[in-house]
Amino acid sequence: MKSVKSAIVAILLLLAVTSNAAKTPKYVFMFIGDGMGVNQVLGTQMYLAELEGRIGVTPLCFTQFPFTGLVTTYSASSGVTDSAASGTALSTGSKTDNNVMGMLPDKETPVQSIAAKAHSQGRRVAICTTVPVDHATPAAFYAHTPSRNDRHVIGMQLAESGYEFFAGGDFAQNYDSEDASADEGNYARCENNGYTIARGYEDYKSKAASADKMILFPGKPTKDLVPRLDRKSGDLYLTEITTAAIDFMMKEPKKGFFIMVEGGQIDYSLHSNDAASCFGEVMDMDDAIKVAYDFYLKHKSETLIIVTADHETGGMSLGNGAYRLALKNLQYQKRTEQGFTDYLGKLQGSDGGPITWEELKDELKDNFGFWDKVQLTRQQESRLQTAYVETFGMNPSYGSDDSDTGKDTEYDVSKISDLAVKILDETSQIAWGTGAHSGGYVPVFAVGNGAELFTGQIDNTQIPVLLSKAAGYRW
Ligand SMILES: [Zn+2]
Repeated sequence: MKSVKSAIVAILLLLAVTSNAAKTPKYVFMFIGDGMGVNQVLGTQMYLAELEGRIGVTPLCFTQFPFTGLVTTYSASSGVTDSAASGTALSTGSKTDNNVMGMLPDKETPVQSIAAKAHSQGRRVAICTTVPVDHATPAAFYAHTPSRNDRHVIGMQLAESGYEFFAGGDFAQNYDSEDASADEGNYARCENNGYTIARGYEDYKSKAASADKMILFPGKPTKDLVPRLDRKSGDLYLTEITTAAIDFMMKEPKKGFFIMVEGGQIDYSLHSNDAASCFGEVMDMDDAIKVAYDFYLKHKSETLIIVTADHETGGMSLGNGAYRLALKNLQYQKRTEQGFTDYLGKLQGSDGGPITWEELKDELKDNFGFWDKVQLTRQQESRLQTAYVETFGMNPSYGSDDSDTGKDTEYDVSKISDLAVKILDETSQIAWGTGAHSGGYVPVFAVGNGAELFTGQIDNTQIPVLLSKAAGYRW
């Protein structure tokens, strides 16, 4: 009888231990929309609803996650953080000064990131982004430098991280600028440390099986991935990166993984106050999140996904005084602001000289829907005409050499694309508080085991602590 009792106790204990173990997710995803405040998320959903002819929201994948919270983002030095301090908070749980990367405000004491902890505790680690792999947000997960601008040092620390997988745009600074001849460069450093470099998704697929550690860069070297609005088929994008990261992590499924994926260009679009591009980049990250969500559906008891942001950018306002929104106008924008600048800069008029005002109007019609789908006021048209004259009429020798294309772009057309985006946003009733960051709340969404921890008002420093708690990483 006694032995039966103790057998029952043993079985109960075993059950308790197993069910506890089942609550610790082996597979952890952390998505960070750079600059993605609450209005960037809500605006994307309201835009999608307007495209369906409704006022309301069309949910994204991640906005349907069952647990939601609001995150405060201030840094140690400012109510408005930059991506270095907020990245450090999200990765290490420590507040630091703006511009400082993975260190305390003393700029000397390194703080360990959740990725490093996961890695030292046997998990496989992937760090992914749409901006350079040595940019502030990804760097916060592996680097420690007094300044986010120490790009060469950050790249060196990437090579020495030992993490299994990186993906994103090319290194911003391959060589130590002070003595390039003495330095092997960060690409070579990575290869010497056992990383296989793949260029584009097809190249990844052909090299992954034999690679120990992998860095996935765009097919054609470039610091930033091509944003959604400007993308052509074959350009590497975040969904492919996320798919590759999961695939590479699952070479050793028993180890479990920590994957960080940054939608880095949400922030770029917001610094340009470019709403159409912002919503495009949010949708693009949502597509990548769908890949993680599909993985979650297959490994429900073992997976945790959180989606958050490092700060708000732009002070985006959904409404501009008229008690209405016309977000559907944004569908007519065919290129990002930078994309339109690049495109317009290469155009010539039919006579081989600069394009005429009538020719520019045709371009604005094709690329922004002006006069055709989107009616402009006389004042808006006259502002565009003034920008045209200032660009092409009065200042024909204004421009600079375009080193990317090797072609002389005689005119600086950025004033026109900046104004075109501004006017389209006006017609959509979107307003902006700043071209920089703001101190506004950012959201957090969570699904999976441990997701219930991410509710209420949370400080950004709590995010990695809660994630570690959920995933059983020793903090
Ligand atoms: Zn920014």
